[in-house]
Amino acid sequence: MGGPTRMRIVFVGPPGAGKGTQSLRLLNYLQIPHISTGDMLRRAIAEHTPSGRIAEQYMNKGLLVPDDLMLTMVSQRLDLPDCEDGALFDGFPRTVPQAEALTAMLDQRGTPLDMVIELRVPDAEVIRRMMARGRSDDREEIVAERIRAYWNQTRPLLDFYEHRGIVESVEGLGTPDEVFNRIKRVLAQPKQCRQS
Ligand code: AMP
Repeated sequence: MGGPTRMRIVFVGPPGAGKGTQSLRLLNYLQIPHISTGDMLRRAIAEHTPSGRIAEQYMNKGLLVPDDLMLTMVSQRLDLPDCEDGALFDGFPRTVPQAEALTAMLDQRGTPLDMVIELRVPDAEVIRRMMARGRSDDREEIVAERIRAYWNQTRPLLDFYEHRGIVESVEGLGTPDEVFNRIKRVLAQPKQCRQS
């Protein structure tokens, strides 16, 4: 594929669904900038910025960082010129207020979202994968908290976007190649085209 597709995609999935692996493939495939708020926050923490210091207190507990901090961070990121080429939002939005704010930010820039890809993995499998990754009991608690945050705060996003008819659910079980092939399939033929 030559050049960026200029697509704007939100990638949603529970922790441990394989979002990291798949988002790298997707970025490579679509040639669009990666807006990963988790990466941005980890960088802010490593650089000891004021935002990093605040974010760290939440992240250490597996809790979501407050919306206002996230929105400032993303809005500044969207103002960089590379975002004209499209964007893969990875780990953002994480709450309905963030999704509403993202809609406003993108409308203002005249660049609405094209698609929301939900990576679906059964709960029991998410827990199994996360436990296999984790080590101490302390980490297990944090993992459980992150899964809770996903179900309570992030999952409702899908209803928000479902109303707009742009959600594509992709089965997250199988090899990375199998999952990526499913993603390519929905990109090639989005729901909106299938219905019409
Ligand atoms: P991630 O790498 O996307 O799993 O993010 C790691 C952690 O960063 C999360 O568990 C949250 O504490 C925090 N975080 C990342 N993105 C967001 C966001 N959009 N809103 C709130 N907290 C976030």
